[in-house]
Amino acid sequence: MWRREKSLAEHDGRELPELLLRTLSQLDGASLILAPGEIPVYANDEAENLGVLKDGRIQSEELLASIRVVRRTNLKQTGTVEIARGPIGEGKREITVNVIPLSEDNLVLVLLRDESEAQRVHEVRRDFVANISHELKTPIGALSLLSEAVLGAKDDSEAVTKFASRMQIEAKRLTDLVQEIIQLSRVQDSDPLQEAQSLSVNDLLKEALDQCRTTADSRKIALTFAEGADCRVLGDREQLTMAVHNLIENAVNYSPPDTQVSVSTSIDQNIVTVSVADQGIGIADAEIERIFERFYRVDPARSRETGGTGLGLSIVKHIISKHGGEISVWSSENVGSTFSIRLPIQSIKEDEA
Ligand code: ADP
Repeated sequence: MWRREKSLAEHDGRELPELLLRTLSQLDGASLILAPGEIPVYANDEAENLGVLKDGRIQSEELLASIRVVRRTNLKQTGTVEIARGPIGEGKREITVNVIPLSEDNLVLVLLRDESEAQRVHEVRRDFVANISHELKTPIGALSLLSEAVLGAKDDSEAVTKFASRMQIEAKRLTDLVQEIIQLSRVQDSDPLQEAQSLSVNDLLKEALDQCRTTADSRKIALTFAEGADCRVLGDREQLTMAVHNLIENAVNYSPPDTQVSVSTSIDQNIVTVSVADQGIGIADAEIERIFERFYRVDPARSRETGGTGLGLSIVKHIISKHGGEISVWSSENVGSTFSIRLPIQSIKEDEA
C-alpha cells in the first residue's frame, strides 16, 4: 500500500523539495506528484481514499489522458473525471482534477477534489424545482379548464355551481401547496436553536391536537392524548407544533373511520419521545425509506383526495433534525403506523421530576 511516509521517497536519487511537500500537506483534497512513467513519488491519504490510486498506479484512464496532455504541452489542464466508488456496482464519484506541470524534473502535480456531494445537492435542488413546477401545473391546469367550463355553462346554474365548487377545491390545493413550499424553504433556512424558546412538550402537543380535532371528527377518528409527565425542549414553537400537527394529520388521513389515533410521550434520561400511533392503512416496507422525500407519496390518488402535497413528512424531518432530534417510523400494512419524534430535553418540570 502507498503510504504517506513514502511521500518522501527519493525521486531519481533526489528528495522532493521540502517546501512543496509542506504546502501540499496544508491543502484540502487529494494530491499526487508523478514522475515520468506516471510513477507516484508523493500521494496523500485522500488520494488513496478517493480510489484514484491503487497499488501505486493511477486507476482512471481519463486522468492518465490528461496527464499525457500536460507532459506533451507543458500546460495546466483542468477538468472532471469519474471514478468508480468501489470494485462492484455502478456508483461513481465526480472528481475535479487540476493537472499542473512542475517544470523541475518532469514532475506532474495532480490535485483532486471530490465534487459528488456538491453535485448531489445541486441535483436535489434541480429536481425540487422541476417537481414544484410539475406539482403547480396540476391545479393551475384544472383551474383553467374549470373556468372555461363555467363560461361554457353560464346559462346552466346547476353546472356553474358544480364547476365553481371544484374550482374552490383546486384553489385550496394550490394555496396549500404554495404554503407548504414556503414552510419547507423557511425551515431549511432557519436555525431554530439560535433564538430558541423554552417550550412545554405537553402544551405543544395539546395545541397540535386542537388544530387537528375538526378533521378527525369529520373522519370519525378518535384522537386521544395520554398526558404524561411534562418536560421542556428548546426550539421554535410554531415549527414544533407544525411537525406534530403534520404527523397527526397524516395519521387521521391514512386511517379508516372508527379507528383511533393516539399521541403519547415517554421520557428516557434527557430525551423525550413523542409518538403518534394510528390503526390505518400502514406503509409497505419497500416504501418506508422514501416517505420522507419531498413530493413522495405511496398512493398519489389517495394523497390528492385528502389534500396531501407530499411535503408534510419532509417538513417534519427537517424541523426535527434542526432541533437536534430524529424521527423514526414503524409500520405494518393494514395494521397501522407509529411515527416517533425524539428530542433532547431542556429540563424536566420540577414538581414532576
Ligand atoms: P402527503 O401530503 O401526501 O400526506 P407526506 O409527506 O405527509 O405527504 O407523506 C408522504 C406519504 O407517506 C403519504 O403520501 C402517504 O403515502 C405516506 N404516509 C404518511 N403518513 C402515513 C400514515 N400515518 N399512514 C400511512 N401512510 C402514511
